[in-house]
Amino acid sequence: MFPVSDKSQDVLNALRAELKELGVKVEYNTKVKGVEVKENRVIGVNANGFIKADKVILATGGKSYNATGSTGDGYRIAKELGHTVTELKASLVPLEVFEINMCKNLQGLSLKNVAITIAENTGKVIYTDFGEMLFTHFGVSGPIILSSSAILLRYKNIDELLKNKSINLSIDLKPALTEEQLYARITRDFEEIKNKRFKNSLDKLLPQKLIETIISLSKINPEKQVNEITKEEKNGIVKLLKNFSLTLSCFRPIDEAIITAGGITIKEINPKTMESKLVSGLCFAGEIIDVDAYTGGFNLQIAYSTGFAAGKSE
Ligand SMILES: Cc1cc2nc3c(=O)[nH]c(=O)nc-3n(C[C@H](O)[C@H](O)[C@H](O)COP(=O)(O)OP(=O)(O)OC[C@H]3O[C@@H](n4cnc5c(N)ncnc54)[C@H](O)[C@@H]3O)c2cc1C
Repeated sequence: MFPVSDKSQDVLNALRAELKELGVKVEYNTKVKGVEVKENRVIGVNANGFIKADKVILATGGKSYNATGSTGDGYRIAKELGHTVTELKASLVPLEVFEINMCKNLQGLSLKNVAITIAENTGKVIYTDFGEMLFTHFGVSGPIILSSSAILLRYKNIDELLKNKSINLSIDLKPALTEEQLYARITRDFEEIKNKRFKNSLDKLLPQKLIETIISLSKINPEKQVNEITKEEKNGIVKLLKNFSLTLSCFRPIDEAIITAGGITIKEINPKTMESKLVSGLCFAGEIIDVDAYTGGFNLQIAYSTGFAAGKSE
């Protein structure tokens, strides 16, 4: 979800303008320490002193990206009021791989229109997707990887499977072509540049940063002339491009997660008003609640929709 201008500042400006229009007083740099309750009803909050209020919306965000202010305070405050907080986990988070050196060489390389399959060693497929991903110094990131983490974190015994090198990430670098079509394409390319060496032959097929890695994985002598490359060797290149394989090792820490999965259990919240079923006048909105979604603006939508419902409710 992006503004037409592509500038996040414009979203901020729109929210500030609305606050001004409505005469809302904003207390900057004020940490809320707790919510005060009397006879099961909210009476205000403790910040720099007591602020009286007959309704409080707790919207302190998740536990990830501390630098943005979401330190997880709200979970503590909600627990103090008797609410249940489900297990907090990193979601929409980059993934580390065992092949660190390979990823370091590919760091910064962004791949568009690739297909990924994440599967157990047994062949059992856990996740498939198509789109954009990125290599980093520790492994992989980018939209389709982040989305995959939301599924992986809920997969049975995932931490153990990752530790045991049992989870494979296969990247199809040429999903639009079948193996046969890719073989024909490589054959055609090689015929056009018969006398070139193998190391200089893949420019048309792959991004520059990937060529060295593919050449090294292919085990074909980089100095070999392309007209000497055998059928088996070409088949090997096809296999590599259709199944560029990495072994996932772990999730990056929660502080690097775009969102926090888990939070205040929805069982204790009225879905129409976002009001607590335990304390009247107390509402929840946004990531603090035990709801999370894929990338694509859905998490902001959750924050906006629950915030709207909480704000409108009497
Ligand atoms: C790098 C990054 C990229 C993202 N990209 C997307 C995206 O493309 N699409 C999408 O849908 N979602 C995205 N998200 C997730 C989305 O930003 C969050 O889900 C959403 O902002 C949650 O809104 P919120 O209001 O619940 O919490 P937040 O936006 O985290 O706001 C919580 C606020 O509460 C304040 N606060 C916390 N504790 C206290 C306290 N004790 N006292 C006073 N104030 C306190 C914090 O300072 C913060 O300002 C992204 C997140 C990150 C980190």
